[in-house]
Amino acid sequence: MNLADLGWRASLGESFKPYGKQGLRPARVAREDKNSYLVLSERGELMAEVSGKVRHEASGRADFPAVGDWVAIQPRYEEASATIHTLLPRISSFSRKVAGSQTEEQVLAANVDTVFLVSGLDGDFNLRRIERYLALAWNSGAASVVVLNKADLCADVDVKAEQVASIALGVPIHPVSAVERRGLDVLNEYLGHGKTVALLGSSGVGKSTLINSFLGTDRQRVRAVRQDDSHGRHTTTHRELILLPGGGMVIDTPGMRELQMWTDRERLTGTFDDIEALASRCRFRNCKHEREPGCAIASALRDGTLDAGRFQSYLKLQRELRYLDTRTDQKARMIEAAKWKRIAKASRKNAKARRRGGYR
Ligand code: GDP
Ligand code: ZN
Repeated sequence: MNLADLGWRASLGESFKPYGKQGLRPARVAREDKNSYLVLSERGELMAEVSGKVRHEASGRADFPAVGDWVAIQPRYEEASATIHTLLPRISSFSRKVAGSQTEEQVLAANVDTVFLVSGLDGDFNLRRIERYLALAWNSGAASVVVLNKADLCADVDVKAEQVASIALGVPIHPVSAVERRGLDVLNEYLGHGKTVALLGSSGVGKSTLINSFLGTDRQRVRAVRQDDSHGRHTTTHRELILLPGGGMVIDTPGMRELQMWTDRERLTGTFDDIEALASRCRFRNCKHEREPGCAIASALRDGTLDAGRFQSYLKLQRELRYLDTRTDQKARMIEAAKWKRIAKASRKNAKARRRGGYR
């Protein structure tokens, strides 16, 4: 294996320099297990663990390696293991809010060049959902491509592709049929040597079928990789970097059931640039686009230049962001409160000790 095959590039070489001087080697994270990582190095697969330093200095889950990350390792080739000493800066990263009560960022995939937003052209076709995936992908820093699968089940592929084009400005759209293997050749362009593609989309849209077709005859690989997942194929929570025989890699992510976004508002609302531009023309700066006079959005809705459904998606996204902000604030306040409680307790203890006439 050669680092370039794994997507190594000059900018990474720059960040890696100081670690190379310490005798560390670069490797790429292919899988995350419970307490270890499968990394791909110049000398093949190694099972790696993070160093105590990485663990100690991590301020959250996002500081731990994720699938696709480049890391600096101390390899122990003879035992096929390694210690991860640092994460190299992510060129792109795809994250979501951690499911559950805590608001924390979880990186699903790092250093992805292109995200395939896979949607089915069957009864499941849903423009609003595609719009939300686009917003998510926009935030990742990776380039987006919409893959409309199951074209064989659709009578009006062009109409649907046109509809997607209207919400995905400047994003390539490729109708394909994974089972009939039609339209797949254009996708190879994104899967070239050293390039990393992540597949995103709801369960059942055909991501596994697509990956199988990229793997060609080597269909076993996907299944083999998933065999160790006792929950079976469709509930897998493993994310995996898979090397393709023709060069290039794919990262398979499980269907995103919970589309709660972890993001900063500015980059996210980029997908709604048109609405933001309209809003900037409202007469009042704090226009809520409800009944205010001189509201550019209301007038665009009236004359049909802005689609009502699209505006609803925008509002929904804003609501979600506000919800997320509140949760983040709550968490920050809790951490802050706990910190002050500790400080107060310590100072009470000190005061007591002083009163007793001797501290320590
Ligand atoms: P995943 O959950 O996204 O990985 O979806 P799968 O690859 O497991 O596919 C879900 C179902 O859709 C399977 O029954 C596939 O055979 C079927 N499927 C996948 N691609 C196509 C396609 O292009 N056309 C049709 N008709 N069915 C497809
Ligand atoms: Zn307005």
